[in-house]
Amino acid sequence: MKIENQVSLLPYNSFALPYLAKNLIRIHSEDDVLQVIKQKLHPLRILGGGSNILLTQDIDGFLLKNEIKGLDIVEEDEENVVVEVASGENWHSFVMWTLEQNFGGLENLSLIPGTAGAAPIQNIGAYGIEQKNLFYSLTAIHLERGEKKIFEKDECSFGYRDSILKI
Ligand SMILES: Cc1cc2nc3c(=O)[nH]c(=O)nc-3n(C[C@H](O)[C@H](O)[C@H](O)COP(=O)(O)OP(=O)(O)OC[C@H]3O[C@@H](n4cnc5c(N)ncnc54)[C@H](O)[C@@H]3O)c2cc1C
Repeated sequence: MKIENQVSLLPYNSFALPYLAKNLIRIHSEDDVLQVIKQKLHPLRILGGGSNILLTQDIDGFLLKNEIKGLDIVEEDEENVVVEVASGENWHSFVMWTLEQNFGGLENLSLIPGTAGAAPIQNIGAYGIEQKNLFYSLTAIHLERGEKKIFEKDECSFGYRDSILKI
C-alpha cells in the first residue's frame, strides 16, 4: 500500500480546485480497503469522481481514491438480469456497458458524472428515474471497524437524493 503525500486534487474534483490531499491512497480492491483499516490510519475519507464535493481546504488525514474496477453479470433469465459493478467504476461507462449488453433500464441515468459507488449514496436520478428503481443490493465496508455488510434495497431508505448511507 502506497501513501502519496501532498497530492493536488485539481484533476480529481469537478470544480478543479487545487487543494491538496495530505495523504492519498489509491485503492484497487476490497482487500486494499481492509489493509488500510487494519493500519488504523485516521481519519479516513473516500473520494469517488469528485463531482459532488466542494473543497474548501486541504484534506487532512487519509484520502482513499476509489479505483476499484469490475463489471459482472451475476444472474440472468429471460426477463431480468442482475449485474455487479465495482464501486470505482465510472457510472456513465457502466450505463453504456449495460446498454451494449442490451440490458435496458439505466439509459436515463447516462452522462451523470461520478463513480458507481457514489450513486446510491444520494440515490442519483434524472429524467424521472432514480438509481433505486433498478437497485438490488450493495456491499459496504465500515471504514473504522472493517465490518462488511450487505444492504438490501429496503434497508437503504432511498429518498429524493438521499439514503441511509448519506452522512
Ligand atoms: C455536471 C454535473 C451534473 C450532475 N448531474 C446529476 C444528475 O443529473 N443527477 C444526480 O443525481 N446527480 C448529478 N450530479 C451529482 C453527481 O454526479 C452525483 O452526486 C455522483 O453520484 C457523485 O459521484 P462521485 O463519485 O463524483 O462522488 P464524489 O463527489 O467523489 O463523492 C461525493 C460524496 O460521496 C462519498 N462517496 C463517494 N464514493 C463513495 C463510496 N464508494 N462509498 C461511500 N461514500 C462514497 C464521498 O466521500 C463524498 O462525501 C451532477 C454533478 C455534476 C458535476
